[in-house]
Amino acid sequence: MPFKINTDLLKKLVPERKTQSQSRQQKRLFNIDKASLDKQVAKFMKERNDFLNYAVKNGYKRDLVIENSQVKNGLRTGDVYSVEYHDFTVTIVNKTKNRTTTLDLNYLLAGMSNDDKLKFLKTIQSLPGEVLEDLAIEVDTLISSTGKDMHILKESPRFLAGGYYSGNNDEITTSEKHIVHELGHAMDFHGSKNESRVMNNKKFINAFNIGLKRFLKDGNKQFNYNDNPDLFSSGLSVISHNSNYCTANPKELWAEIYTALTTGTCNSYNTILKYFPEALEIGKNVLEEIRNESRSTRHASKRIQNPLSRFGV
Ligand SMILES: [Zn+2]
Repeated sequence: MPFKINTDLLKKLVPERKTQSQSRQQKRLFNIDKASLDKQVAKFMKERNDFLNYAVKNGYKRDLVIENSQVKNGLRTGDVYSVEYHDFTVTIVNKTKNRTTTLDLNYLLAGMSNDDKLKFLKTIQSLPGEVLEDLAIEVDTLISSTGKDMHILKESPRFLAGGYYSGNNDEITTSEKHIVHELGHAMDFHGSKNESRVMNNKKFINAFNIGLKRFLKDGNKQFNYNDNPDLFSSGLSVISHNSNYCTANPKELWAEIYTALTTGTCNSYNTILKYFPEALEIGKNVLEEIRNESRSTRHASKRIQNPLSRFGV
């Protein structure tokens, strides 16, 4: 029998990014059977609490308040944030720009094994406020690369990736080690519009070409995926071990610059500083521009969110 859903519960379930199609889907969900909903919610809550206890026992801090989280490194000084963790909810306040974003980690990591979830939770708790804000806005789905076939270049099946961002599906598949680099790719794309900002930025492309010319003139070789055939058998990640990965293409240069600007370092750090100073400067502006965009422009989510999906429906 159809019933009217508890609106407080619905508010909790409905993500902030709501589209028309999501509203239609919610209407459909209003008509689900109450008894089965209660059962599903109870099952979800038990699993969630069991996992929370497990995570806390293994080093996750369920109540953590960071009053001042600010990126200050050799490249830039970022806005001042406060970050508050309560269970799996993160409240991120940009105190400089006076805006608040929330991030539901249980939702973001849904579908992972408990061990993978734990690895990501601990890595996430080490990230600065501004990166958490980017993560909350840009990423709908985070998939662990553990145990996944990471041969992503069909024409070069021996290439093993550390992670990847799919603009088409608007999903990140990664290990926790590469989360910031992959987030950089997500920042580059307008969500489901699947369009790279830097590839459409003439200044950035020009700066990439200038830097690459300089790099080659010094007798260096541009990073080429096909040059690393042994990485498959040895199981190593190309990205985490190559200090010239930023020379692969402008998109990788941007992802490495994003990592450097927000964490103070990246695998290509020295190469960027020595050969790509112009791209680095433009990258700082690109970062500011993205963060000043409205959320809907910044990230057009196409994921039709079933508000009960996190309850295993
Ligand atoms: Zn990349």
